[in-house]
Amino acid sequence: MQPYVLVVEDEDALATLLEYNFQKEGYEVGMAGDGEEALIMAAERTPDIILMDWMLPKLSGVEACRRLRRREETRNTPVIMLTARGDETDRITGLDYGADDYMVKPFSIPELFARTRALLRRASPSLLEDVIRQGDIEIDTKAFRVKCGDTQIHLGPTEFRLLDHFMRHPGRVFSREQLLDAVWGRDVYVEARTVDVHIGRLRKALKKNRTSDPIRTVRSAGYAFEIAA
Ligand code: CA
Repeated sequence: MQPYVLVVEDEDALATLLEYNFQKEGYEVGMAGDGEEALIMAAERTPDIILMDWMLPKLSGVEACRRLRRREETRNTPVIMLTARGDETDRITGLDYGADDYMVKPFSIPELFARTRALLRRASPSLLEDVIRQGDIEIDTKAFRVKCGDTQIHLGPTEFRLLDHFMRHPGRVFSREQLLDAVWGRDVYVEARTVDVHIGRLRKALKKNRTSDPIRTVRSAGYAFEIAA
């Protein structure tokens, strides 16, 4: 599963550079050009990490960061603040408003990658792993294999991606729209009930080998993956 990074930057040249480099590094990249757009995009699909420019049109990076922290879904999402200013006061203010780290422009892309990985590892340890285990279920995204205990399970590509997404975010409730964005991609038009069909298939495949259903239906909200340790 590719980590989803939301880049909030209004300087076109830098935005393009970041988009290109993060895509090349294997991230899924969302781009926002101002603070308001960042809030809308983060609400549509919760990013795994956010790169936030300090000076933005409409809503400053600091204010956007503050508002993201007030929302349940993005309360703990790592934020790296990007700024042209380097003085100590700004740095402190940025961290006060809930940024996790700070890069002063111009910065080196490899260093940004290193800090991004460090924050991702801390926030979602499973995100960068190829093999994830939750209870008796194990998924290997490199080998494209799923096991329930010792039994190998066969899943279609969509069910595989769904399970992968769930297992990397255990306990989190996802709406059908969020699952569509994360698993099918933003540019694909699929009806929301298609999600239900694939959830049904995934459940059926998992149930063959275990007694309890790890996918919980949350009424009028969506689905969550929960497994007893
Ligand atoms: Ca700016």
